[in-house]
Amino acid sequence: TFRAVVIDKNESGQNVGIRTFDETDLMDGDVTVRVSHSTLNYKDGLAITGKAPVVRRFPMIPGVDLAGVVEASSNPEFKSGDAVVLNGWGLGETHLGAYAEKVRVKGDWLIPLPQGLSAEQAMAVGTAGYTAMLCLMALERHGLRPDQGPAIVTGAVGGVGSVAVALLANAGWHVIASTGRPKEADYLKGLGAAEILDRSELAGSGRPLAKERWAAGIDTVGSTTLANLLSMTKYGGAIAACGLAGGMDLTATVAPFILRNVALLGVDSVMAPKALRMEAWNRIARELDHDKLAAMTTVIPLDQVLEAGREIVEGRIKGRVVVQIA
Ligand code: NAP
Repeated sequence: TFRAVVIDKNESGQNVGIRTFDETDLMDGDVTVRVSHSTLNYKDGLAITGKAPVVRRFPMIPGVDLAGVVEASSNPEFKSGDAVVLNGWGLGETHLGAYAEKVRVKGDWLIPLPQGLSAEQAMAVGTAGYTAMLCLMALERHGLRPDQGPAIVTGAVGGVGSVAVALLANAGWHVIASTGRPKEADYLKGLGAAEILDRSELAGSGRPLAKERWAAGIDTVGSTTLANLLSMTKYGGAIAACGLAGGMDLTATVAPFILRNVALLGVDSVMAPKALRMEAWNRIARELDHDKLAAMTTVIPLDQVLEAGREIVEGRIKGRVVVQIA
């Protein structure tokens, strides 16, 4: 047996707690990993609180990200002792997840621990940070460069947002960080933000087209915030949309698309193909400043993850949270 966070469901709803889990109840997979670290993403908060139906089978062990060491493998690409990382692929949703001392997974889902990062640093990045890099890559693939204008990041004090600010600034962008927590201005400037924008300026239903303010954007909020972001994007610019912290809806007009050649770029991390993941992680290892990563990271023990999960869905978590498992 091993220790794990377990979510059960019965007629009266879901309950979640830390208990022992039987190794024989692990799901199919060709690699068994001893987990050393996991992390807390918004989706983990949704799973823990049951606020949105991200958990697709019960009992479930939540946790979408892990770093650890291979204990046993029948996959030719991995052997006992290899340091590995896993992000997404349904972990913590359809497959027993990372808030556990042990996981059994498909070797195809694993990547080697990126060179230059410790297991703890890889989880400080986590799905949130790797998604921020996927967003930056999507903007670049669209042809956008820092000399075309500022880049906006919404939900900037959050996990994806914090990493996005640091990555964009490092790549040479003038970063506008949008937040509902103006008291964190110094934190955001430390990560590389050039300007702070109060998120109330992007809330509510706005005009189809407004004054052009940025060439690029990384949006973690969705809803009216994303609609307003599009309406303020410069001619030929693009917004990479990866989140729904403000809502899943999107009531926008086509005006920015058809009058300003603006593009909306969707970004998914969960099912992203392996080559794209490897590229994103290699770039993170090279481009994300370790001091900035440390400045945005808090480490908690597994015992505190349920409370932290409630906090993240309330928008009260700053930066990234590493969950120490071993
Ligand atoms: P997080 O740490 O909680 O960050 C979300 C941030 O959004 C908050 O810190 C807050 O920033 C802002 N926010 C929260 N509620 C808001 C509201 N009602 N209106 C406006 N802003 C609000 O979560 P995260 O882990 O970074 O994830 C951010 C989002 O990205 C989530 O929706 C998550 O599901 C999504 N995501 C998607 C993918 C993907 O594959 N597409 C991968 C990772 C994450 P301020 O305090 O600075 O305003």
